[in-house]
Amino acid sequence: MNLIFLGPPGAGKGTIAVRVKQSYHIPHISTGDLFRAHIHNKTEIGTQVQAILDSGELVPDELTIEMVRQRLQEDDSRNGFILDGFPRTIPQAEALEDFAQIDGVLNFELSKESIVKRLSGRRIAKQSGKVYHIHYNPPKVEGKCDESGEPLIQRPDDKPEAIENRLEVYQRQTAPLINYYAEKGLLIVINAEPSADEVFTQVKEKLENL
Ligand code: ADP
Ligand code: AMP
Repeated sequence: MNLIFLGPPGAGKGTIAVRVKQSYHIPHISTGDLFRAHIHNKTEIGTQVQAILDSGELVPDELTIEMVRQRLQEDDSRNGFILDGFPRTIPQAEALEDFAQIDGVLNFELSKESIVKRLSGRRIAKQSGKVYHIHYNPPKVEGKCDESGEPLIQRPDDKPEAIENRLEVYQRQTAPLINYYAEKGLLIVINAEPSADEVFTQVKEKLENL
């Protein structure tokens, strides 16, 4: 099962991808996570992309496409994968067609009001990779990861000044992919407003019909 999770930042794509990964035993490939790992490890790519991520702009297509092309060559992607946050532009979607066959594109729909609430309350644990929300999914001990105990941080691009820009970038560059995949008959609409448990139930129902 080769899946794309599409939708605005903060729609819950990563949260649901973790559950789909556990239930269906397919890797969760988040381009945002891959770039953040490069930044954390101070690689050449990390140095190139840090300021872009912090501002909420998109990394150039060529670099992003090459990173995904290489990732999909790894053994764990052979029986399926979840692409989370890729493609984000029409050229990325066109390039993907040259190296992967997609079975379904889940489009997570969420109001702007909810997006802003989710992004501004999101907190992450860098080492464990776990994602929390100060109200909707708080850790057991405030400010600390349940798994690793490390301090939770706010992503620089979840600060108010970057959120507005990311939503504009999404509308301009990524939202056109909704029609692109609808025309190919691949689009599956997910109502991302309810709780993560309810969203996951919807997703499982849709995946059973794939
Ligand atoms: P995305 O991967 O689409 O950017 P995330 O999965 O990181 O989004 O979710 C954004 C924030 O919203 C996180 O803090 C997460 O804990 C929270 N969240 C995710 N899904 C839901 C949901 N269904 N209801 C409430 N909060 C949610
Ligand atoms: P995300 O974790 O999906 O919210 O992505 C965080 C940031 O990584 C984005 O705001 C972009 O700067 C960068 N990024 C992630 N995926 C892509 C992509 N497919 N194309 C370009 N930039 C990306």
